[in-house]
Amino acid sequence: MKIRASGLCGTDLHRYRAAEPTEMITGHEPCGVIAELGPGAPDGLAMGDRVMVHHYRGCGVCEMCAMGYEQLCPQGRVTYGGGTGHGANADYILVPSRTLVHLHAALSFEAGAAIACGTGTAWNGLKKMQVSGRDVVSVFGQGPVGLSGTLSAKAMGAHVIAIDIVPERLALARELGADHVINSREVDAVTAIREVTGGAGASAVLETSGNPQARTQAVQCLRPFGRCCYVGVGGPASIDFNRDIIFKVATIYGSWTFSKSELLEIARFMVDARVPVDQLITHRYTLDQAVEAFRTFDSATTGKCVFVMD
Ligand SMILES: [Zn+2]
Ligand SMILES: [Zn+2]
Repeated sequence: MKIRASGLCGTDLHRYRAAEPTEMITGHEPCGVIAELGPGAPDGLAMGDRVMVHHYRGCGVCEMCAMGYEQLCPQGRVTYGGGTGHGANADYILVPSRTLVHLHAALSFEAGAAIACGTGTAWNGLKKMQVSGRDVVSVFGQGPVGLSGTLSAKAMGAHVIAIDIVPERLALARELGADHVINSREVDAVTAIREVTGGAGASAVLETSGNPQARTQAVQCLRPFGRCCYVGVGGPASIDFNRDIIFKVATIYGSWTFSKSELLEIARFMVDARVPVDQLITHRYTLDQAVEAFRTFDSATTGKCVFVMD
């Protein structure tokens, strides 16, 4: 596949900040066109097709792989751009044809890259909670995944409260439709969420930051029968199971990206609901600008950062 866009995503920073340099090419949000097809490729794929990559390879035949959840394959997996397989921050990437899905003509390569991990992850967490116009959704963290959660929850019709500690990101959340923004460095997020919900709390919460305090507050701010979905990877947190889960009759979900078919479902939603996915993207770089790109993304002040190739 010839890469046309490759997004930077939160987990890239774990490797970027690590003491040990990685030998593998990063970039797990590949989007581009088919440049070469090996023997045995499906009839539905052709040279030049615009595609996204479901960026995992499992054994290909077990129950998880058959579901399109190759990241859950018990035989182990390769994650393209995730340290076990070369990623998309390059001119080309070699992947099995079964990992490819077509990119809708109405979506840009940059939007396709975002959907291929970060944006899709946020959307799928909201889908698990069946978010609708009846919900008040709190989205903890307004990095690229959290901003995607804000944008997607608005597109699903919900009232949205965006929480972060960085003013630039809260301003972006406002632009993307957040009804309320809360700086949890300045005020107690749980108290603030209760204040803007007439004391009730949120009916659904998407936790994208992985921050231990946010992980705890995510269930503290729930109203009775609330749902909470964790997608942000981070450190251990302490939860009062009696007060915040049992006696709230709460439902807790975990979500790890999405299956291959869900990748198509997410992209279709973005097209059908006319979600302005490109508005998430605040910074575009060439591969030559990789040092600046990672440094800027690591500053935690940006929306989505994307490498764009000709
Ligand atoms: Zn990712
Ligand atoms: Zn498998």
